[in-house]
Amino acid sequence: MRFIDLAAQQKRIRDDIETRLKAVLDHGQYIMGPEIAELEARLAIFAGTKHAIACSSGTDALLLSLMAHGIGPGDAVITTPFTFIAPAEAIAFLGAVPVFADIDPVTFNIDPASVASIIDCFAKGAGRGGPFVVPQTILQRKLRLRGIIAVDLFGLPADYSPIMSMAKESGLFVIEDAAQSFGSEYFGRKACSLADCGCTSFFPAKPLGAYGDAGMCFTNDDELAVRMRSLSIHGQGADRYENIRIGINGRLDTMQAAVLLAKLELFPEELELRQQRAGYYRQLLGDASSPVICPTIPEGYFSSWAQYSVLARDGIERSDLQERLKEEGIPTVIYYPKPVHLQRALADLGYREGDLPVSEGCSRRIFSLPMHPYLENEDQEWIAAVLKNN
Ligand SMILES: *Cc1c(COP(=O)(O)O)cnc(C)c1O
Repeated sequence: MRFIDLAAQQKRIRDDIETRLKAVLDHGQYIMGPEIAELEARLAIFAGTKHAIACSSGTDALLLSLMAHGIGPGDAVITTPFTFIAPAEAIAFLGAVPVFADIDPVTFNIDPASVASIIDCFAKGAGRGGPFVVPQTILQRKLRLRGIIAVDLFGLPADYSPIMSMAKESGLFVIEDAAQSFGSEYFGRKACSLADCGCTSFFPAKPLGAYGDAGMCFTNDDELAVRMRSLSIHGQGADRYENIRIGINGRLDTMQAAVLLAKLELFPEELELRQQRAGYYRQLLGDASSPVICPTIPEGYFSSWAQYSVLARDGIERSDLQERLKEEGIPTVIYYPKPVHLQRALADLGYREGDLPVSEGCSRRIFSLPMHPYLENEDQEWIAAVLKNN
């Protein structure tokens, strides 16, 4: 059994992918070929935003959006520690400081109450706002709090209504890290359109995946769009050899756009299939005899189910369950075994174990089951039987 079965998907669209790639081989515009603009136009419509700017990865999408907001040394940006390193990495890479809010224990997404207390800590210059901690080492640096990166973890959007209103009140920007949530919805609005700027990834294992690295930025803000596009092409101005700002080589390549255009045809159907798979897991594992807690999708949300992540009672039971599944050839993965605030790369920030207890507790108990649109009923039934020791 595979954790994510990309081969089953490829079987369905192999011809379309070959046709699309052959078109690129024929026109030969490997950089900035016509597929780029076609993909941007189609995904902007899909996400419901005015602009879509293709780029080289989800990480670069975050970097470009932070650069477009002028983030650099002296700035602080709030984000979540319970995710992949990329958002904190992009903030730190630009010389700014990531400040971590804790997460909601049900959705695993950034907790608006924790964000509010961090904003309060910065306003007062004091390290403790309610139960949430900003290390003194960070506050002493007298940083300017500039924005928030919320992450839509495992495909479920963060709670943007309170986040956006807090941000507006405090003059902060909000970036939506939708690397795992392309196709998901929050009260009728699509992921990537839920903040000032949305960033997604088309890494092969994401809900909409290319055959290599790829990403995209989305916004309704005309000026932000112009800056992000320029930044992705070496800070290019009106023509290729005029550079008006320091940027990066962050373009998407044409081959990946061609693959994505072919895969986009299947995507709406695959989103539906993921709903069915998740529903079946809940049916099999949502009862009192289950050793795990299934994910909960709050009213008004639609998840793209990038992962199906469950909570074991504790770390010991998690190891037992994973071991039992492994013996039966069923792969599982822990997203994420170590929260970002405890990573060595960010040790300078001064966070300690115990500072963000919800994130730390989840990282000890969580693990993800195989999840993709082509999972069979029998596979899920078997997974449930092994978990329940039936
Ligand atoms: C995958 C991922 C990224 C980075 O995307 P890449 O395309 O691999 O650079 C960023 N944020 C989150 C939450 C991710 O899951």
